[in-house]
Amino acid sequence: ATMSVASILAETAHRMPDNVALIFNGQEIAYRDLWDQTRRYAGALRDLGVGPGDRVALMIPNVPDFPRAYYAVLALGAVVVPIHALLKATEIEYVLRDSGSKLLICAAPLLGEGAKGAALAGIDTLSVLVPDDMVEQLPFPRLEDAAAGAEPIDSYVPRDPVDTATILYTSGTTGKPKGAEGCHFALVEQVNVLLSGTFDFLPTDRVLGCLPLFHTFGQTCVMNMGFRAGAAIVLVPKFDGATALQLLNAHACTIMTGVPTMYIALLEAAKTNPERPPLRYGLSGGAAIPVAVIERMKEVYGIDIHEGYGLTETSPVASFNHRGKPTRVGTVGQPIWGVDVEIADPEVDHAIHLLPRGELGEIVIRGHNLMKGYLNLPEANAEAVVDGWFRTGDLGTKSDDDYITIVDRKKDMIVRNGYNVYPREVEEALSTHPAVALVAVFGVAHETHGQEIMAAVTLMPGSEATGEELVAFAQERVAAYKFPRRVEILEVLPLGPSGKVLKRELVARYEAQTP
Ligand code: ATP
Repeated sequence: ATMSVASILAETAHRMPDNVALIFNGQEIAYRDLWDQTRRYAGALRDLGVGPGDRVALMIPNVPDFPRAYYAVLALGAVVVPIHALLKATEIEYVLRDSGSKLLICAAPLLGEGAKGAALAGIDTLSVLVPDDMVEQLPFPRLEDAAAGAEPIDSYVPRDPVDTATILYTSGTTGKPKGAEGCHFALVEQVNVLLSGTFDFLPTDRVLGCLPLFHTFGQTCVMNMGFRAGAAIVLVPKFDGATALQLLNAHACTIMTGVPTMYIALLEAAKTNPERPPLRYGLSGGAAIPVAVIERMKEVYGIDIHEGYGLTETSPVASFNHRGKPTRVGTVGQPIWGVDVEIADPEVDHAIHLLPRGELGEIVIRGHNLMKGYLNLPEANAEAVVDGWFRTGDLGTKSDDDYITIVDRKKDMIVRNGYNVYPREVEEALSTHPAVALVAVFGVAHETHGQEIMAAVTLMPGSEATGEELVAFAQERVAAYKFPRRVEILEVLPLGPSGKVLKRELVARYEAQTP
């Protein structure tokens, strides 16, 4: 058998050519046109020597050139290496070298770091403009110009199902980025499974595309799912709550996929904008969404938020609160079809000892969605994948009826005076305070306790609260060994490119302060 991730766009363009694929900057692009443009981009890349198995890096925000470049590279049988938009030149160099990329396609506003990174890695840069670039003359050849004179490819190159389609670098919230290789089968199967029984994306749907497409969650649960279904994707290059709400309204969006911080921002935006979009439901993942946020999304927007769970290494989805099944708030739902999610003894190395239902342990995953492995890292692979099971580093439980609950990341667990404290539980307690918007609980090194518990929060606009008040609030709601001894109120929390709080940065900041 042969296949290609590029079929996701190509086949929808064939079956529903007139459907709107993208909405961006007030303009609509039909599937037929998007696929034509993609075939032309592929023609240009082929003329530049890109062929099957070559790696091509993309550093592009959510603009139409992201999907054009993504499917053009895949259609040639080459491998896409998406690069996080916030990386600096030497980090980009690392990813380019590690992946063996032969070309970087970089959006003009990101050229400062991108082109520097490519020069360090000794490879060429091709640029693409984004609509509000003021750059008239770029010192790099433009993909659009190359495409204008190129002969479009006829169709995509069929690949072996286990051939690599993408190399996604983990965002490095926990160390040096590792390149997870996803094959064509994993990516296509993931989308087909999600659309047959987990979610109902329809050709009439309009999906808010506010998650970065260079991240696994946006790639699968916005772009590949949206295009496979023939839905329209409203591209949002830079997320903020007020703009997102305007776009949801202006384009009558029916589905939104986001990380919890995005839903929190939408709740804030709703206070000054009374208009509500015709949303059917929302998908959340990437980090724990506080129960209070799910409840308020129901009150304010009238929608259910379906929470799911996954990782870059699992394409990403492993479990979800499925549509049409009772949502169990506070859980990440049930495994999706064809994927095993189990709980293993976290203390046992080099082997997987599955634990009975209800017991707390390390979440392990097996199935079609698993990466081929980390590129160039045989030792990390041997550690991460044991007997076909991927060790996630997350702690959780599984109920008798298959609902998975995440307790926390193994590495985020705080040990204070010998007691294990799971930040997530304390975050849940703090987020029920009406003034609290975003909250992160973490441990900082402490002389006598080993670690001390701290929290950093942002407040809802117009709300007031003091750190002491929030300490007392938490103290009333969780056991004495668990409540944060200090709560800092900040204007913003450090967020990673996919909208997750970077706890490592908070820990570093406050540990540096402790004398
Ligand atoms: P790194 O790979 O460096 O850790 P990252 O956090 O960006 O960076 P991802 O693959 O994007 O890597 O995230 C996977 C992690 O996100 C999971 O291991 C889990 O800890 C967390 N996560 C995902 N979904 C949820 C959820 N619904 N609830 C709680 N945590 C979640």
